[in-house]
Amino acid sequence: ATFSTTIDSETFKGSVSVNTGLFIGGKFVEAIKQTTIDLHNPADGSVVTQVSLAGKEDIDAAVDAAHAALNSSWGAHVPAHTRAKLLHKLADLVESHVDELAALECLNAGRNYLQAKNHDILDVSANLRYYAGWADKHHGQTVETADGRLAYTRHEPIGVCGIIVPWNFPIMLTMWKVAPALATGNCVVLKPSELTPLTALKLAALVHEAGFPAGVLNVVPGTGAGAGQALTEHMRVGKVSFTGSTATGRAVMAAAARSNLKRVTLELGGKSPAIVFDDADLAVSVPEILKSLFAHSGQVCVAGTRVYIQEGIYDTLVPILVGALGAFALGDGFDPKAVAGPLVSQTQLDRVLGYIEAGKAAGATLLAGGSRLDRPGYFVAPTLFTDVPPTASIMTEEIFGPVGVLVKFTTEAEALALANASDYGLTSQVYTQHLERAVRVTRALQAGNAFVNMFSMLCPQMPFGGTKQSGFGKHLGQAALDEYTILKAVHIRV
Ligand code: NAD
Repeated sequence: ATFSTTIDSETFKGSVSVNTGLFIGGKFVEAIKQTTIDLHNPADGSVVTQVSLAGKEDIDAAVDAAHAALNSSWGAHVPAHTRAKLLHKLADLVESHVDELAALECLNAGRNYLQAKNHDILDVSANLRYYAGWADKHHGQTVETADGRLAYTRHEPIGVCGIIVPWNFPIMLTMWKVAPALATGNCVVLKPSELTPLTALKLAALVHEAGFPAGVLNVVPGTGAGAGQALTEHMRVGKVSFTGSTATGRAVMAAAARSNLKRVTLELGGKSPAIVFDDADLAVSVPEILKSLFAHSGQVCVAGTRVYIQEGIYDTLVPILVGALGAFALGDGFDPKAVAGPLVSQTQLDRVLGYIEAGKAAGATLLAGGSRLDRPGYFVAPTLFTDVPPTASIMTEEIFGPVGVLVKFTTEAEALALANASDYGLTSQVYTQHLERAVRVTRALQAGNAFVNMFSMLCPQMPFGGTKQSGFGKHLGQAALDEYTILKAVHIRV
């Protein structure tokens, strides 16, 4: 079946169209058990369309198709420059469908249309081109040994990779994995979130149009407990690259351990600190802190949700942050005035409101927001708390909504101790004009990423990943190539 609709908004006028089947072996097919799931528009709660929902037997079919491609038309069977050419062709198609992809992301994931168009989709094509460039350059080394044998290393594809992604930036996070996996010669079974599969299905159509051999990329929307678990337990899947919550990450790793010891990359949750020192340049810092807290209504893994503010600047900065929220317009993603949109689902709305109530019950002071908006859709007002007990759930747990806590500190050592007192270690922000302090503090922060005087600026060239319970393994940059390859050592007696 095909879903198509016409949208007539201030930012996007036109039609979108996407096949709602499973994409297996180069064709769209119905799920074997004919199961479907309703997709909702988070901006008003209405049903957008239904898509096929993959079960275990569909995962088996997709893995078979991927292996068939690996053994005939991909991996060692095509020169690397052919893979590069196809990835560039796909980037061309993504660029020529930028409006449609952004509109689908808006309709299905509640992502702001203009932000999807001007950022997420461009990031998708930038990653395709970056890894296309690597396809024929990820060389091994020759090694000098004492006995003069010929010794060298090769980076070989793992084989069939399972890719599992969440709903917050569906197409962008997908491509952080798909581009390096394909560039290095793997075949992929991609399981998008059951809430937001439309752009992945559109991507499948573009992969087909670009001319990739059948079976190289398969797209199987399904639930975590069904398709997700089947993929992570599959004996013929060599690797699972997962982005999602820490709880699910544990389940993925356990499934890998009890099946075939497949490799895993885990990009998990965060509760990232932003430390603002007395000498911070507020003109630079305030917009970054607000973006970090409230962009995409806080459904951002790198959100800086714990803001530590030095005492000399606290009484100045807090009213500025609270005051700025009046101009922070929430709205439907197609509304050009909206800077952020709805939460993805009713479940997520209830979860975030539950955290806000828990914060109030724990005795924290509510400075702004604190409730849903009086309109259809899953909107929560940007919310700030202060005086938060260190053990309160709003201080320790990832909320994944527009909720931040503000904390006063005195010394640099105190700020570091507070910032590092977390199970998570995804990212961190430091606001200061002292270079030495920036270097010292970023060195001491327990996080996979550190940003100084900025929220988060991710690019294909720089590696990204977490530490502690934010997971392990890298996306982006040269480092991601190693996530999808096996390093073989070859020794030849001469
Ligand atoms: P989630 O963990 O509920 O789901 C993520 C994906 O895993 C979905 O596709 C889901 O269907 C699947 N899944 C669920 N249970 C599974 C199982 N048992 N086996 C296999 N797959 C399963 O996460 P979510 O609610 O979709 O997304 C929000 C979370 O993602 C947040 O915790 C956020 O921090 C995290 N996230 C992390 C990053 C990062 O780069 N670190 C980026 C974006 C989102």
